[in-house]
Amino acid sequence: MKELRDDAVVIRSYRSGESDRIVVLWTRSHGKVRVVAKGVRKSTSRLGGNLETLAYVDVDLVKTRGDFFIARHVAHRQRLTTLRGDYARINAGYAVVEVVDAIPSEDVADEGVFDLLIRVLTTLDDPLYNPVLVPASFYLKLLVHDGSEPVLDQCVNCARPGPLVAFDASIGGALCSQCRSGSSISPDGLTLLRRILGGDLGTVLREDDPPGAAEVAVLAQDSIESHFGRRLRVSRSYAPLAPPRIDR
Ligand SMILES: [Zn+2]
Repeated sequence: MKELRDDAVVIRSYRSGESDRIVVLWTRSHGKVRVVAKGVRKSTSRLGGNLETLAYVDVDLVKTRGDFFIARHVAHRQRLTTLRGDYARINAGYAVVEVVDAIPSEDVADEGVFDLLIRVLTTLDDPLYNPVLVPASFYLKLLVHDGSEPVLDQCVNCARPGPLVAFDASIGGALCSQCRSGSSISPDGLTLLRRILGGDLGTVLREDDPPGAAEVAVLAQDSIESHFGRRLRVSRSYAPLAPPRIDR
């Protein structure tokens, strides 16, 4: 019988049978694992509250049938009360974990993703930070982590330095007027993308509504969907900002 102890974040759960839930965890050292949480839908269950989506927990698991584990012990590592008390923060967190769930790496550990995820949760739990651009920033950081950082300092097609007027998620970067495809990008949008990926993210997330924010939210979403080759339902419905004017 295989045992597993690790730090983990609950990225999703779904019901199974009468009173059980399957809880999907992204663990620090063991990748994505599925836990059968017996009886968590009964109100008396103590495990249930510790296994809600976005919980940051310490788990002690034992492997059962197939690829499933059962939980022997679950404890919160951090309560994340600010995050839990605010719909905007919860929704931003949901948009992030949906993308983590889409990462095609069953049973493959990726501590880099875990670290990014923990940074998202602690940022969302800090009232100093505005949650609006957290999902977009996470998608962009995940692209960097996967070696697919968007090209922003020159035309991704012809390498001219600029002016850069468009952004094409399927090509992975900004484009000059001769090569343009994808969506238009404003100078503000381009500047904001560069700030997020260039080490200024902490400041960006403390600003109320940085110029170009709505554009960047859409372009980051397009980029992560293009990267995984699928549309993402929850994060697509995550629309904290008015849609930007972009001619397609
Ligand atoms: Zn070009």
